[in-house]
Amino acid sequence: MLLEVKNIEKSFEKDIPVVQGVAFSVRENEIFALLGPSGCGKTTTLRVISGFEKLDSGEVLLDNKVLSSVDTHVAPQKRGIGFVFQDYALFPHMSALDNVAFGLTDLPKFKRKVFAEEVLCRTGMGNFKDRSPAELSGGQQQRVALARAIAPEPKLVLLDEPFSNLDAMLRETTRNEVRSILKKAGMSAVLVTHDQEEALSFADRIAVMNNGKIEQIGTPEEVYYKPKTRFVAQFLGRTNLFEADVDHADCIHTNLGCLKLNCRAHGQITCSIRPEHLTIEKPNGSLNGSKKGIIIAREFKGHDITYHVECGGERYIVHTDNRILFEPNDEVVVKPLEPAVVLDNFN
Ligand code: ATP
Repeated sequence: MLLEVKNIEKSFEKDIPVVQGVAFSVRENEIFALLGPSGCGKTTTLRVISGFEKLDSGEVLLDNKVLSSVDTHVAPQKRGIGFVFQDYALFPHMSALDNVAFGLTDLPKFKRKVFAEEVLCRTGMGNFKDRSPAELSGGQQQRVALARAIAPEPKLVLLDEPFSNLDAMLRETTRNEVRSILKKAGMSAVLVTHDQEEALSFADRIAVMNNGKIEQIGTPEEVYYKPKTRFVAQFLGRTNLFEADVDHADCIHTNLGCLKLNCRAHGQITCSIRPEHLTIEKPNGSLNGSKKGIIIAREFKGHDITYHVECGGERYIVHTDNRILFEPNDEVVVKPLEPAVVLDNFN
């Protein structure tokens, strides 16, 4: 493992922990995201890894070397880690080239600018090397900040909401470019974001954080399609939740008829099914135990449609492709296409 974060704890005020037992590891050339709502402790975790913040307990190791523990604290500039901050933090009075050359203190002076230019070219900014940050767009500043972070060839780069200042179109293209630059350079990265789509499309694995704790770690597909908790299910997109009391069963009886579960369950359970794992049909023939529903709202989004359906006194959200056309007040039946995922019932 390249980076190991072992049960770190951090409080700023006595008895109010903001990071509680956070543990994860990052492999070589892996992009890892810390995803969670504002204030859940993502940035504090990143700042502990960077060394800008000391921890109260736990350990941070890079390449088996302890960087932070109760007794050890290696200074940020000595950790061999690159950082890209939300506001890019470029020196305003320096050119793009000088910003990148600034950190190359391991190279002899005459080589610094040559190498800095090479890295700027790699991030597509070679032609802008003489411009100051004020003469660059947000996306261009972002790429200079990335060039500055990767120029000393760190094994690990920390990215704190680096795309949040860019507009939607630029955010997507810059994100793809940054991902491919990191992958080509063989670097690992930890990205902090509150944007689900960003984490799902940028990271190889995601840790979903809530209230200072990690609730689930997994690939984007795992955390999206197999959420472990109610929080993860709801934070990663819209979902339909069902509660039931079951006796070693692999399906539950709902307004939609018999709903299959992804595993055998016992006791009081909550399960989740994503809107795209439901579909709607005209109520023809036998309903097989499902109740008729009424379309109460429709959101047309071009490539797909979201329907809000009332059925048996409950509301369900259904995403269909744009060929399944119904109007508000139409009678429908809602059909599950996949089993519902049983959640850990601790919250
Ligand atoms: P955001 O997405 O809004 O940046 P976050 O998940 O990154 O949120 P943190 O910045 O880690 O969250 O903050 C976690 C909690 O710690 C918040 O309640 C915040 O107010 C508190 N906090 C962060 N830094 C300090 C500090 N230096 N002193 C006191 N409290 C702090």
